[in-house]
Amino acid sequence: MSDYLVNAASKPAMRKVMQSMGIPTPTQLARAEGAYQEKFLDGQRVVVGAGKNAAARHVIQQTLAGTGADVVEANAEDDNKYDALVFDATGMTAARDLRALYEFFHPIARQLTRNARVVVLASDPDAMETLAGATAARAVEGFTRSFAKEIGKFGSTVNLIYVAPGAEDRAAGPLRFFLSDHSTFVDGQALTVKATGQMPAEIPTTQPLAGKTALVTGGARGIGAATAERLAAEGAHVVCLDIPQDQDTLEQTVGEFGGTALPLDITDDNAPRQIADFMKEKFGGVDIVVHNAGVTRDKTLANMPEHYWDMVMAINLEAILAVDGVLTDEKIINEHGRVICLCSIGGIAGNRGQTNYGTTKAGLIGFVQRQADAQAARGVTFNAVAPGFIETRMTAEMPFGVREGGRRLSSLGQGGTPRDVAETITFLATPGAGGCSGNVLRVCGQSLIGA
Ligand code: NAD
Repeated sequence: MSDYLVNAASKPAMRKVMQSMGIPTPTQLARAEGAYQEKFLDGQRVVVGAGKNAAARHVIQQTLAGTGADVVEANAEDDNKYDALVFDATGMTAARDLRALYEFFHPIARQLTRNARVVVLASDPDAMETLAGATAARAVEGFTRSFAKEIGKFGSTVNLIYVAPGAEDRAAGPLRFFLSDHSTFVDGQALTVKATGQMPAEIPTTQPLAGKTALVTGGARGIGAATAERLAAEGAHVVCLDIPQDQDTLEQTVGEFGGTALPLDITDDNAPRQIADFMKEKFGGVDIVVHNAGVTRDKTLANMPEHYWDMVMAINLEAILAVDGVLTDEKIINEHGRVICLCSIGGIAGNRGQTNYGTTKAGLIGFVQRQADAQAARGVTFNAVAPGFIETRMTAEMPFGVREGGRRLSSLGQGGTPRDVAETITFLATPGAGGCSGNVLRVCGQSLIGA
């Protein structure tokens, strides 16, 4: 399918013509357009499968009550449709308990609407006391990922929240996110919430970033600009940093949401000092740091010139470590701060022609995992977001076959948008994501590459 047909498929009249001709048309994904809404599930029919864990049951009930959802009993006998399913598997301690998954989902698996949201909660396998418990908890991930592959063609998603002991209340933020159309392109993923680290006293669900200051590197365009815009829409004041050569684009971007431009090359020796001083003097510190600036310089290793290797290392990895070093050492990042790094599927699965890029992006996974523990005492979280095939300038330049393969090789059968990535970054920046640290969350429509 050419780009012309991809665009045509988004128009209802053309879709019908294309379908009648047998041309595959991926489901149009439901995407939230504005900022977070309190009652984002107003009137939607949700079925809950509660398990043995009273604390998890309470959190599910409380969370859904705030969304305006119509929580109904499942009835496999009628042909009613359900917009969302939530299943609590946290009480499972043995393999035989897994049967409850079949018993809950099988009878109503055909009764989901298009763009339905399915969320499963399971115990954190690493925290299980018994071998049988750890096995059962980890098994739920296989169920989640497989069910996601079955219903992705309808635009529906299935995601998993691993809940560590005592962290049930911290699952509320992720539950809201996965149930909403802000998480449209996140599919077949597992996110862990832990009880370690401080949580903020207040967890607002609308305008959660009011009064916060954010720094987005590489914020002039692409994913960085989309992220800055989303953070601002949730109430943050956003400083966008980009190279001085792109100052005009940078000014234009920040002008759209009333942000601040910081023209600077993050690889300059004095960039960490300048960033720290700028944030401290102008805003008294920073609450959200999005390490987004990144480049590719692709060649197979045998053909890769030295400067390709050095440049990608300097921008994608060394500069991030240097900037973070000053911001964390000098406590420029405020308590309950959020640090989010842009990783990539290349850093998870590897990619031909990207030994340099894959090295840097895998390095960032090690970085967020180590910092998550080291900075937990101040309530600062570190997470990575790994985009899959996203429709940007970068992917538009790919040869047609590769581009089309990138779109098709996912459960949702299409590419994502910079805004989809921005949505996940924004969620991880909220107070409600305080239980999530050290995670790598993919925004890839459940890409089959690196799955
Ligand atoms: P993009 O090229 O559109 O934007 C990147 C921005 O970073 C540019 O504005 C650029 O000027 C800036 N930048 C580069 N070097 C810099 C430096 N030394 N100092 C300051 N700014 C600098 O890229 P994008 O597609 O929006 O990607 C953003 C991030 O997401 C990158 O880290 C990329 O590796 C990652 N990513 C993107 C995709 C995708 O499909 N687009 C997939 C996986 C990961």
